Amino acid sequence: MALHWKIVIGMVMGLLFGFSMTFFSWGNGFVTNWILPIGTIFVRLLKLIAVPLILASLIKGISDLKDIAKFKDMGLKTFGLYMMTTLVAIFIGLSLVNIFVPGDGISPETVEKLTATYANDSGVTSKIASASAQQQAGPLQFVIDMVPDNVFYALSDNGLMLQVIFFAIFFAISMLLIGEQRAKPIKQFFDTLNEVILKMVDLIMLTAPYAVFALLSSVVVSSNNPELLIALMKYSGLLVFGLFLMILFYMMLIKVVVKMDPFWFITKISPAQLLAFSTSSSAATLPVTMERLEEHVGVDQEVSSFVLPVGATINMDGTSVYQAIAAVFISQALGFDLTLGNQLTIILTALLASIGAAAVPGAGMVMLVIVLESVGFPADKLAIGLALIFAVDRPLDMCRTVVNVTGDATVATIIAKKLNKLNTPKPKNWDDHLDGLKN
Ligand code: ASP
Repeated sequence: MALHWKIVIGMVMGLLFGFSMTFFSWGNGFVTNWILPIGTIFVRLLKLIAVPLILASLIKGISDLKDIAKFKDMGLKTFGLYMMTTLVAIFIGLSLVNIFVPGDGISPETVEKLTATYANDSGVTSKIASASAQQQAGPLQFVIDMVPDNVFYALSDNGLMLQVIFFAIFFAISMLLIGEQRAKPIKQFFDTLNEVILKMVDLIMLTAPYAVFALLSSVVVSSNNPELLIALMKYSGLLVFGLFLMILFYMMLIKVVVKMDPFWFITKISPAQLLAFSTSSSAATLPVTMERLEEHVGVDQEVSSFVLPVGATINMDGTSVYQAIAAVFISQALGFDLTLGNQLTIILTALLASIGAAAVPGAGMVMLVIVLESVGFPADKLAIGLALIFAVDRPLDMCRTVVNVTGDATVATIIAKKLNKLNTPKPKNWDDHLDGLKN
């Protein structure tokens, strides 16, 4: 059976199991203490290999290039396409929220109820605090932050992915400059390291169906207040519809620009999408996205090793749709009028926010605070605003992470096509060399 079907079965069983556990008073505790750890270990394993994978594959990818000018070309195309898809995402979000005005359907009683339940929740207050910490920084701080002052420190923190990328590019270009002959031993080392880590991805993926079972059952038992979820139906439905339009947009790009069957493409990357959904983290999904694109779609490693890690950190189209819809929805529901100028400001800040957002669960909400503040949303109402959408944020985070990952995969495939780096896929299995070990 194909991996994605196994994962889907795990997900459905996890949802059903989680739902059945809500009928028991001990259900939540049982799932949290005994089931969720399986999912948590899985996510830790993926994160464990993310940094070595980026380092090894980027150094290998760039040192394969032979021509530095090609790298510049790839870099410019990558940034251009990432900006373009993000702008499309914001445009879709703003159009939908202005046409359907979901904030109108929210009664003052619902606002009151949501405020009472969530405005003082640590989930909401911590988001506001992180946002204000980010805003204290100067305008060029994010550029400074890309440059590590200690490579071992950068390697030891998954949140410093851009620093690792910076070091790997710098290192690989210097490797090219010492000449092929001299660079050979170190290149061979990173080549093999890269292969070993991709094998680790295969092994970790063997447990994916069980892990998604655990992760999803935990999401179900920890979500409460079904009536509040229903009150937010119009907002959630609109956001999911916007995210769906983004997926259609990617499929169209794959069809028109890459001339590939978009359904084939989606099937090939579906394990990464399902994991994005289950983990709500594009960073944790990154190793799987890389493996799927390289081995199952045929994107050359020279392209994927650069485009995907950069995309995981700076390209978040799902998060951009969300920011546009959520910011305007909150303003509508709380009667804060947005002018056309405000909406243009949202476009700009949402673009920057999607670059700045970390690829971890809930990061989009932190950046939403910054987007709201940019249009002069009253600071004392921020907590109320976030409280409005907090109840449904986790499931919507799961959906937007799928779009974030699909966007990166689409752009990587387009760039591979443009640079003539799309090969016939050669999938590898975890047990390809197992027989050799038995003798
Ligand atoms: N969870 C998202 C991601 O990792 C970010 C967000 O929108 O919160 O891609």
